[in-house]
Amino acid sequence: MIESAPTLADRLASVREQVADAARVAGRDASAITTVVVTKFHPASLVRELSALGVTDVGENRQQDAGPKAAETSDLALTWHFIGQLQSNKVRAVLEFASVLQSVDRASLVDALQTANQPVQVFLQLNLTEDPNRGGVAPADLVGLAERVLAVPCLSLRGLMAVAPLGVDPRSAFARVRDASEHLQSIAPGANALSMGMSGDFRAAILEGATHLRIGTAITGNRPNGG
Ligand SMILES: *Cc1c(COP(=O)(O)O)cnc(C)c1O
Repeated sequence: MIESAPTLADRLASVREQVADAARVAGRDASAITTVVVTKFHPASLVRELSALGVTDVGENRQQDAGPKAAETSDLALTWHFIGQLQSNKVRAVLEFASVLQSVDRASLVDALQTANQPVQVFLQLNLTEDPNRGGVAPADLVGLAERVLAVPCLSLRGLMAVAPLGVDPRSAFARVRDASEHLQSIAPGANALSMGMSGDFRAAILEGATHLRIGTAITGNRPNGG
């Protein structure tokens, strides 16, 4: 008998099982964890398949790629999360499709969002490295940035987003995010969402309290065209 390669549905089911299992171990309700399927590098047809499989939240990191994809699938009930580094002059283009911005990391972006004056859900991206070029606000600047977001009526501050640095135990990286979140909630009690955990480390993220996972390759497979 020839074994066939796992399909998109198989991979999605497998991730859902692993999420449910980690939630059980953590004593958490899996239904309180949103899996954002990261569809970068993949065509609109894959987004359509995911929607048919019950996926409601998708994530993209490049405005140039995501805009056309979202336009092609605008008949579907999807929430688009923007998760990539964002230039202020691209804010309007991103808001044409995304209602959640997970990568807000500096005051100039908050100013651009204020000017755009549309309702947006904001996650502040926390930089867990010492490298300021990695994207994300330095932990020491988090509260100042949060205060700026809270001052803009069209913005709803949901919480924090972070990527575990390479070469570090992801569980300890995510524990730092959880600590920062507790600090943030002392000035913004509703900002309790935690977007952390990717294909390789979502179990650790769930154990540390992630409410949003951003999972690409474990569900979508590798990039098409061998790229
Ligand atoms: C690509 C990407 C992901 C998903 O990564 P996988 O390892 O494919 O699951 C998550 N978060 C961000 C910010 C990304 O750019």
